[in-house]
Amino acid sequence: MKDWHKLAECARQGLDFQLFFPEREGTVDFSVIQACRACPVIMPCREYALEMEAALTRDSPRAGIWGGMTPRQRTNLVNRGIITTIFSHHSTSYKRAIRRLQGQVRSRRASSQPSRVRSR
Ligand code: SF4
Repeated sequence: MKDWHKLAECARQGLDFQLFFPEREGTVDFSVIQACRACPVIMPCREYALEMEAALTRDSPRAGIWGGMTPRQRTNLVNRGIITTIFSHHSTSYKRAIRRLQGQVRSRRASSQPSRVRSR
C-alpha cells in the first residue's frame, strides 16, 4: 500500500471500487466526482495513474477514474504534451508532500477531539 492510500477520500467514505470504473465515461457517478474533489491526495493519485500508464501507447486503453480524471482526460494530457515528466513516488518532493499531508490530517484530527477538562 502506498503512503497516500491511507489518506484517500474514496477509502474514507467506503465508496464501492466499481464506481471508479464506469462502463462509459459519461456515466461517472457524482459521488466519485465529489470524493475526488475533496480528496487530500488527488495529485499523488493522478500521478500514480499517469506513472502506471506511462508505458502505454497513445491508442492503448486506459481505465478508471484516478485523481479525479477520466481515462480520456488523462489521454488528452499525454497527447497534448502536458505531461512531460512524471515525478517518481520515491522522489524527495513526493515524500515531502506526503509528510505535509499526514501532518495536516493529524492536526485536523487533533483539533476535532473534544478538549479534556482537568480535574483538581
Ligand atoms: S483522488 Fe479520487 S480516486 Fe484518487 S484517492 Fe482520492 S478519492 Fe480516490
